[in-house]
Amino acid sequence: MASSCSSFNAKPSTIFTKGEEPWLGGISLKRKPTSVRLSNGCRARATLAAGFKPVGVPSQWYNLIADLPVKPPPPLNPKTFQPVKPEDLSPLFPNELIKQEASTDRFIDIPEEVLDIYRLWRPTPLIRAKRLEKLLKTPAKIYYKYEGVSPAGSHKPNTAVPQVFYNAQQGIRNVVTETGAGQWGSSLAFACSLFGLNCEVWQVRASYDQKPYRRMMMETWGAKVHPSPSTITDAGRKILDMDPSSPGSLGIAISEAVEVAAANADTKYCLGSVLNHVLLHQTVIGEECIKQMEAIGETPDVIIGCTGGGSNFAGLSFPFIREKLNGKINPVIKAVEPAACPSLTKGVYAYDYGDTAGMTPLMKMHTLGHDFIPDPIHAEPTHAIAATIREALHCRETGEAKVILTAMCGHGHFDLPAYEKYLQGNIVDLSFEEEKIQASLAKVPQGKVERSLAVQNKESQFNSFGDGPFNL
Ligand SMILES: *Cc1c(COP(=O)(O)O)cnc(C)c1O
Repeated sequence: MASSCSSFNAKPSTIFTKGEEPWLGGISLKRKPTSVRLSNGCRARATLAAGFKPVGVPSQWYNLIADLPVKPPPPLNPKTFQPVKPEDLSPLFPNELIKQEASTDRFIDIPEEVLDIYRLWRPTPLIRAKRLEKLLKTPAKIYYKYEGVSPAGSHKPNTAVPQVFYNAQQGIRNVVTETGAGQWGSSLAFACSLFGLNCEVWQVRASYDQKPYRRMMMETWGAKVHPSPSTITDAGRKILDMDPSSPGSLGIAISEAVEVAAANADTKYCLGSVLNHVLLHQTVIGEECIKQMEAIGETPDVIIGCTGGGSNFAGLSFPFIREKLNGKINPVIKAVEPAACPSLTKGVYAYDYGDTAGMTPLMKMHTLGHDFIPDPIHAEPTHAIAATIREALHCRETGEAKVILTAMCGHGHFDLPAYEKYLQGNIVDLSFEEEKIQASLAKVPQGKVERSLAVQNKESQFNSFGDGPFNL
């Protein structure tokens, strides 16, 4: 046994941090030389590299809006097309989240109660994908920030926990939401179980039937799960009247949850992506990552994230964008989306509803139309991984040793039927269908909004109307 033991050095690039302490593999490193017993029976002495600073959980979220040269246009009331007032939102959200949604403060303190829960799995590891580099024979260095270590298996608890906390603080007893495959619903159910709130989830019918494991997880954490469309709401019943076997969609499920929240004073609605306060909460990812990269003396040349509603991409990239705006670094930042749901690359930047029934405030967004229903795709970080591999292969051609940083926002352990489909050769490559997109884009209420705004003669407030998004 002893003869197979050899000494090793903890090289800074192999260290990631967990809690307040730096770790190497499964070994906690102390500043003093530490004797540790390895699983093969060997003893090893491990010492922290000089100057290595352990990375903790950030104490503040970062609000990119404070640094944007053009502020995002305001959400509009869906009936009057006037900018929403905070009181328009209070049937749906607790006051603190409404405040955060409109905040222009650069940093917002993370409540101690939230930090205490974040510490269960944060800081998440920053890992160098050395074996992937080797496989691709690339001179590039590939790092991934791994959010799959959270209890729900994705980045979503980063916002579920503060959202439920602020609701609990205001004395709210029930929260409702929608979920597709179930990542968001299970994160919210997890957070509710910690703060003692009731959680009701409308899950897209097709996933409810085909992917039972996330539903079981939600129910295990105490949530009540309804297939959507359901007969509980007007929005659901309307859809079922037209199509009793409707497979449902996220847009329909949002309409159902929002309807229930709006009708019940003791019930609020939670959204798992898209909104400013969600992106704000997710910046813990990027703040940690900046420190972790600094600790190993690396600077990213390329940052890649997949975008559904944009929250894991924003969570990783926004703090780096701050550094970029400050002229400290200059990475290329890439958002990647599935060809089957190409809202950034084939959609329009316009005011649209967030749901199918048109009950939510209108937001200026990259949209394919509020009733666009994408073909079922797997909303996991596979798109980011694919783009990372392409980038690394490009580096192999050019010989550039770029540092590529990517967001690994979750694991697919509950999506094993998709793995089976892949193993059986039954995964089909979906791409966008031009006609379907054109039909749904025609329903974007842009014309209606513009006419109404012209009547209101509030041009000064909307002179950014029609502008492209902030250009990175
Ligand atoms: C929700 C989710 C996404 C898509 O949402 P974003 O807000 O764009 O991050 C992607 N991957 C995982 C694992 C998710 O849970």
